Amino acid sequence: MNMLARIFRGRAAGTLQTQPQPGRAQVRADNGGYVYPLDRWARVDRFLILGAESGTYYATEDRLTKQNAVNLVDAIREDGRRVVARVIELSESGRAPKVQPAIFALAACAGFGDEATRSFALGEGLRRVCRTGSHLLTFCSFIEQFRGWGRGLRRGLRGWYEAKPVRDLAYQALKYQNREGFTHRDVFRLAHPLAADAERAALYAWIVKGDVPTEEFQALSLLRAHATAKVSEGADAATCAELVRATGLPREALPSAWLKEPRVWEALLPGLPLTALIRNLATLTRVGLLTPKGEATAPVIARITDRTALRKARIHPIALLAALTTYKSGRGVRGSATWTPVPAVVDALDAAFALAFENVEPTGARTLIGLDVSGSMSSGTIAGIPGITPRVGAAAMALTHVRTEEAVRVMAFADDFVPFEIGKAESVDSVVQRTAALPFMGTDCALPMLYALERRLTVDLFLIMTDSETWAGTIHPDEALRRYRERMGIPAKLVVVGMTSNGFTIADPNDGGMLDVVGFDAATPALIADFARKA
Ligand code: CA
Repeated sequence: MNMLARIFRGRAAGTLQTQPQPGRAQVRADNGGYVYPLDRWARVDRFLILGAESGTYYATEDRLTKQNAVNLVDAIREDGRRVVARVIELSESGRAPKVQPAIFALAACAGFGDEATRSFALGEGLRRVCRTGSHLLTFCSFIEQFRGWGRGLRRGLRGWYEAKPVRDLAYQALKYQNREGFTHRDVFRLAHPLAADAERAALYAWIVKGDVPTEEFQALSLLRAHATAKVSEGADAATCAELVRATGLPREALPSAWLKEPRVWEALLPGLPLTALIRNLATLTRVGLLTPKGEATAPVIARITDRTALRKARIHPIALLAALTTYKSGRGVRGSATWTPVPAVVDALDAAFALAFENVEPTGARTLIGLDVSGSMSSGTIAGIPGITPRVGAAAMALTHVRTEEAVRVMAFADDFVPFEIGKAESVDSVVQRTAALPFMGTDCALPMLYALERRLTVDLFLIMTDSETWAGTIHPDEALRRYRERMGIPAKLVVVGMTSNGFTIADPNDGGMLDVVGFDAATPALIADFARKA
């Protein structure tokens, strides 16, 4: 610890973080420090966005999942329709990195809700949250934990199939045949959807019995093409590519040997959804289709840096960050696949990361970002994405603010200040690498405010990216903020960007100048800007 900070902090002493502040409703966090309990609804949001997949430094995945499930059930009992509405809203806006928590919550509403909640969840909720066949099968794999296969559930599932146009449903059923051990045939056996006409009956017969539909059903041509692909498995690459081009078969419906062929990928490319394109950049490079000077490269780069397309396909910034770190490494997270990354593709992913956040107008707020880089922030992963620890995610989020706003400073802290400046021109990849290399230490979340006071920095907005597990300081973070406001005469605000789905926050819920938001919510920069503008 540097001398200046020690002397300063001696002067700045307040309530030890291992003690509650008198008169404030604080609770003991998992690490023994006293913080505020997060509001029930704010915690629902944290769960929907961050999930609980890999736990935190202090809580195992099981414990974190259980805590979140208990909180979710409490929220459903308080106002189930509100939970369903929130799940729909977050799911449709693409704000969460993964769909699973929303689908899990929807299933919980269908199980624990009152009658109105259950029918909302199984009607509108199912249609709007489970947009693909994959989502629906995932829902079925969750629902059994929460309820039996009663009439309401069967009716809801039947309604899902019956509401989808035949051509769409054929595509979904072909593309996603199996999820978590559930197939559409399993769902059909339980829910018995009804076919109103011969075409739909032919589709249902394919789902249940594998009967290939006859030529008369135009909308089912994809299913016939799939049958052709199966019998042509050993055909040469040119023939396979031609079949893909002529029929629009998705890659999931192709024999796996075909997916080693550059010509087949070339045929798939125009119809490849953006999400699939981003996930398959390594494969496209490995098979030799993406090269520094290849013809396919420029159009691919144009697609992944198209802001409108990114938003429309609900591509989440963290999906791009994960794609970037994996692609650039030149080797798969699992398995032994290797490739030589194309530099222009790496740059395109870097640009796409910034584009995928909701567009934010600069607020002009003088901002100090405090990055919690303590040991606990390097445990677990955001939404279960390999390599993206809360610490790495926080640094990447900080970069988006640095790029948007004029007056942003970044400091990092653990139990002491850690020099960590981020420049506007720095790539997200470089920020991530520098963050990952920092040592692990204890935590004092009051340090950003103390840092600003010590240096007499004028700050309108403190942005602290943390798991709110703080214990090492001699003054609480909200206490330090109040002291900063008094001594500097600036009504500074504090936004706590929660990077794990625990139930804690350092923000005082009774202070209108402090706000909780969720890290890696695609809308977070916009929410922060709104709060910064608020008088
Ligand atoms: Ca910590």
